Amino acid sequence: MEPANQADCERVPVNPSSVFRPEILAWKAYHVADSTGMVKLDAMENPYPLPDTVRRQLGEALAGAAIHRYPDPSPQGLKALLRDRLGLPPGMEILLGNGSDEIIQLLCLAVARPGAVVLGVEPSFVMYRVSAATAGVRYEGVPLRDDFSIDEAAMLEAIDTHRPALIFLACPNNPTGNLFDPEVVRRVIRRASGLVVIDEAYHAFAGATHLPVLASAPNVVVMRTLSKLGLAGLRLGFVVGAREWLGELDKLRMPYNVNVLTQIAADFALRHLEVLTDQARDIVAERAPLIAGLSQHSNVSVFPSSANFVTFRVPDGPAAFAGIKARGVLIKNLHGAHPLLANCLRVTVGTPDENRKFLAALSQTLDPRNG
Ligand SMILES: *Cc1c(COP(=O)(O)O)cnc(C)c1O
Repeated sequence: MEPANQADCERVPVNPSSVFRPEILAWKAYHVADSTGMVKLDAMENPYPLPDTVRRQLGEALAGAAIHRYPDPSPQGLKALLRDRLGLPPGMEILLGNGSDEIIQLLCLAVARPGAVVLGVEPSFVMYRVSAATAGVRYEGVPLRDDFSIDEAAMLEAIDTHRPALIFLACPNNPTGNLFDPEVVRRVIRRASGLVVIDEAYHAFAGATHLPVLASAPNVVVMRTLSKLGLAGLRLGFVVGAREWLGELDKLRMPYNVNVLTQIAADFALRHLEVLTDQARDIVAERAPLIAGLSQHSNVSVFPSSANFVTFRVPDGPAAFAGIKARGVLIKNLHGAHPLLANCLRVTVGTPDENRKFLAALSQTLDPRNG
């Protein structure tokens, strides 16, 4: 067959680097460590599965799913349940996301005008930076102080300098585990020239919320997720705020972003919420002995935690991480992620048995005479 025209024969090869944004080609893919066969304490998951009877009921509920139909694009029943179970203030809208990761991405896409800036603190949740980059928006991170509190003067100055369209604050913060001083957060909100997103992914373990701020601060939205509560596999996050903000974000959302099975399972879980909140209470109770076990080592410093994980510093972070992993326990190595996290590791609160295995692996790693 004759070529259609001369140009077809001579055309330059088409490949990703000739078509895709150059910054994407330079990125590394998001890495998830292989945890096969290990005690998995790296990802802030709830270690407890649902009780067998509850699981069977969930199975029955899912059996009725109309998976031949598209999902409800805006499930009012599920939103009403969320509003009720989580005690959301009246008059506030809810927008559902495929995990709060998707909501972070929607927010970054929404502000992506030329010259726009997204501001956060450092170290904090990596998806703020990643999503800003995805949207092509500049990200600025204000370093926390050595004790992981907000450097208020630096933060207020960064707000004045960069005039950020979006500010992310995780309360409690990940990967540091601490809550920020609510008075400082309030002053950040007051100084902000853009939207402030309070990310309460760890609310279930913190006993504190910024939801009441919504009533008086029109430039705030609060984000939550079911992930850390025990439903990480479902992928359901949401943001609460005034209709003025959420109505615009809703236009960016893929209409069927929350699938049928997730909608049914989340509805079911919210009707059995006490199972999850009881588990969260157990996790909080286990956090204290875990911290105590860590603190027994004179060469380990432990940071306070209001979340379901504990961040701590050892003399040699990478070596300790490798030693603990070699003993069958996977945690998170934070060394290298930020200068403030030098030699820091992060462990998720697991079951009592998992925590014991972790503490034994840590002891053996720090002092091989311990077995
Ligand atoms: C884990 C985490 C999230 C992500 O939650 P998903 O709903 O699972 O996407 C959001 N924010 C912070 C601070 C987190 O640590």
